[in-house]
Amino acid sequence: MVTRNRRTFILHAAGLCAALTTAGRALAAPPLVDESDTTAKSLGYRAKASSVDTGKFPKYQAGQRCANCRFYTGTAGDAAGPCPMFPGKAVSADGWCNVYAQRA
Ligand code: SF4
Repeated sequence: MVTRNRRTFILHAAGLCAALTTAGRALAAPPLVDESDTTAKSLGYRAKASSVDTGKFPKYQAGQRCANCRFYTGTAGDAAGPCPMFPGKAVSADGWCNVYAQRA
């Protein structure tokens, strides 16, 4: 009986570990957008807004950054967060792209 209880405990513990590992992966931060990504290039995305190529993207104005863009859904104070222009990835709070729109 003791052996069976021990085996049951081990099986439950293994199941719990597997569940926690899966949950940990789900909570892991998404990868940052790579500036050389095709979408990033076409939108003029830069991780540092101050490095935007204003020759190609003259819409950029100093002070504009992902953190104050209406499309940014990251938490205030975080270094990066989600943006629907880059599904499954995170944009830098200090970033910028040509779709920028001032948050109301
Ligand atoms: S849409 Fe806004 S939040 Fe998204 S990358 Fe462009 S500037 Fe940043």
